[in-house]
Amino acid sequence: MTNLSIFSKMSALADKHKAINLGQGFPNYACDSKLLEAISKALQSGKNQYAPMMGALPLRESLKSKLNNSYNCQIEISNICITAGATQAIFTAILSLVRPGDEVIIFEPAYDSYIPSVQQAGGVSIPINVKAPFNAIPWDKVRKAVSPKTKMIIINTPHNPTGYVWGKHDFQNLEEIVQHTDIVVLSDEVYEHLVYDGFKHRSILDYPTLRDKSLAVFSFGKSLHVTGWKLGYIVAPQKLMEKFTDLHQWNVFSVNSFIQHGISEYIQDTSRFKRIAPFLQKKRDLLIDGMTSLDFNMLPCLGTYFALWDYSSVSTLNDIEFSEHLVKEYGIATIPISPFQSAPLASQIVRLCFAKEDDTIKRALAKMERIVA
Ligand code: PMP
Ligand code: GLN
Repeated sequence: MTNLSIFSKMSALADKHKAINLGQGFPNYACDSKLLEAISKALQSGKNQYAPMMGALPLRESLKSKLNNSYNCQIEISNICITAGATQAIFTAILSLVRPGDEVIIFEPAYDSYIPSVQQAGGVSIPINVKAPFNAIPWDKVRKAVSPKTKMIIINTPHNPTGYVWGKHDFQNLEEIVQHTDIVVLSDEVYEHLVYDGFKHRSILDYPTLRDKSLAVFSFGKSLHVTGWKLGYIVAPQKLMEKFTDLHQWNVFSVNSFIQHGISEYIQDTSRFKRIAPFLQKKRDLLIDGMTSLDFNMLPCLGTYFALWDYSSVSTLNDIEFSEHLVKEYGIATIPISPFQSAPLASQIVRLCFAKEDDTIKRALAKMERIVA
């Protein structure tokens, strides 16, 4: 392996130095025991053979009603395909649509799998730099970046690593840009349920003209606090879904069946999704308030598992050096954000994951106290 992801690198360093891992985005608390019961029931009842290529029917039916009740859409089960996590959905979507020489617009900082996936397809990524504090997309730059070669625009809301949540104006701008074009939008919405302070997640599925030219990607890993199960789904109109499944069938065929059946039963009670944001908002506040009371500069976080720390008041190290220093000297693993950028990063910012037991966050804060300004 020549190019290990920053998440794997920082988790390995955390293990090596027995550090508190606020790096890679995964919860260290248990998921709902009712979810485990539903999965175990599905396993015991013999849901052990191949699911259909697009996913187990009961799960796709449950998702159809969840999506149609949550967003301004009327999708059918033929518009939903279950995938082995969001990473696979993103990779397959890009490989099935992007051809050599096609341009793909990507907002940076960007989740680390987008650019390598575009490169695998022979596409050319066109980065649009969003500047700290990352709360305004430079729409004029996007307009200028669009060319006859633009095949796809990848968006991500709520956004990893910045916590920015797209507003109505963002979707209006996107709509103006892609209307009357053949540009496809790939919308990464894995943090759809992790939006705080009373804000609402707006999905690409809410916008009929965009929906017709978009693929939306979701992940149960994030919504149900089980990142290791690697189960997600993609929603797309018929013509895009056909291209997607043409590749999915030969690459994956279908994903594990008993988890699909278990989740299908568990999400019958849709109120379960409503409990996620208040639960994580408390953790976000515990971390951000704790860091702020230590006089550290935290950037606003409206969604996701992550909060950004501008550490320029405590160190002149670059973000990679600083994260390594933090693991080795203070026993705290974070994620530098320059690996989310293709252009060199001027700012000194690292990402902290707050999807952790309160006690873990408190222990990390106690270690942070030793960092002298
Ligand atoms: N997109 C974003 C923005 C992510 O943060 C992640 C990591 N959860 C993924 C995609 C991949 O999700 P999965 O673990 O379901 O592959
Ligand atoms: N999505 C997770 C994060 O941002 C990491 C997933 C991975 O390790 N590939 O931390």
